[in-house]
Amino acid sequence: MSDGQSLKPRTLAAQALRRMDETTGGVVPPIHVATTYQRDQDNAYSKGYTYARPDNATVRHAEAVIAALEGAAGALLFASGMAAISAVFVGLPKGARVVASTVMYTGSRNFLDQECPRLGLDVERVDTSELEGLERAASAAPTALVYVETPGNPLWTIVDIAAAARIARRAGALLVVNSTSATPILTRPLALGADIVVHAATKYLNGHSDVVAGALAFAREDDTMARIARVRQIFGGILSPFDAHQLTRGMRTLPLRVEAQSRTAMDLAHRLTGHPLVARVYYPGLPDHPGHEVAARQMTGGFGGMMSLGVKGGERAAIATAAAVQVWTRATSLGGVESLIEHRASMEGEGTPCPPNVLRLSVGLEDPDDLYDDLDAALRAGASA
Ligand SMILES: *Cc1c(COP(=O)(O)O)cnc(C)c1O
Repeated sequence: MSDGQSLKPRTLAAQALRRMDETTGGVVPPIHVATTYQRDQDNAYSKGYTYARPDNATVRHAEAVIAALEGAAGALLFASGMAAISAVFVGLPKGARVVASTVMYTGSRNFLDQECPRLGLDVERVDTSELEGLERAASAAPTALVYVETPGNPLWTIVDIAAAARIARRAGALLVVNSTSATPILTRPLALGADIVVHAATKYLNGHSDVVAGALAFAREDDTMARIARVRQIFGGILSPFDAHQLTRGMRTLPLRVEAQSRTAMDLAHRLTGHPLVARVYYPGLPDHPGHEVAARQMTGGFGGMMSLGVKGGERAAIATAAAVQVWTRATSLGGVESLIEHRASMEGEGTPCPPNVLRLSVGLEDPDDLYDDLDAALRAGASA
């Protein structure tokens, strides 16, 4: 019970698994800062800790909360989302073949296209929202891993996780799902057949734009998990105890934040759909989004806080709109309590699949009317700039 097999996400998150300080009874555990641990007289380490690069108790607590929320056998935390993602690929044997989505976070795209070939990995990128293409790519040659992001940056493309898991299994490959924007509150990829879930914990899990962290949650505590734990130990990419503590605090309110952000995003998506200066709203909660049906099946309780707007008047009007906001903040990143707006193509640079008139919105916890009125005013200012 203490690791929360039967408890609901709000209870798991709010209580952070009820881990307390055994010395004082403090309801919040201390931050364990020691880098090294005393051996027993018989030379063993019976408490299970040796040194802080492999492992740390404050990090383990945050990992246990993530594992409970994802319904995972275990989780590992890293110093950033990219450190978590790269550990998955660094752990693969030389020459391994990877099939990955075309639409995804730019950092991952650059890692797959530029760094993986140098690691001797063979990466094929396909539109994973089309199952036939995914099946063809995964069965074309022996494949070690299928990597998808859903909803996928920056147009919130949806991948059918259960179908992708079946395709990966038939091909003898692992399915890795980057679920950063869905969060474990809206989607639990492991229950749909995925093998590993990735979170840029920098985003919704922490939720306050003040920690950089990455997490992997595993369906099984198996050789793959052990191999990736070893990569973390050898490459040294573990999260710091202070950040792990801050992350656990952030996760206590994750369900409430994500529910409110999803509600506000849906409300804005509806209002902006009819806006005279908006060419297109990209949000999986809208029935005209190409992934809506699958999203409605695999996301529960909302469609998330991320959306994008195609602005009429092209790139110039989009950048001028972003320049005119006063309640939203012009910044990259996502998943925080404050709403952010970003001209995504400028951030992604060359080779981006993002249309030049697109603004990416990360919906925060402000009043929906304030957010809408500010966007409406900014769109008008942008159109006449
Ligand atoms: C931000 C993000 C990352 C990278 O995370 P960092 O913590 O910035 O390294 C990876 N994937 C997705 C989907 C992201 O949003």
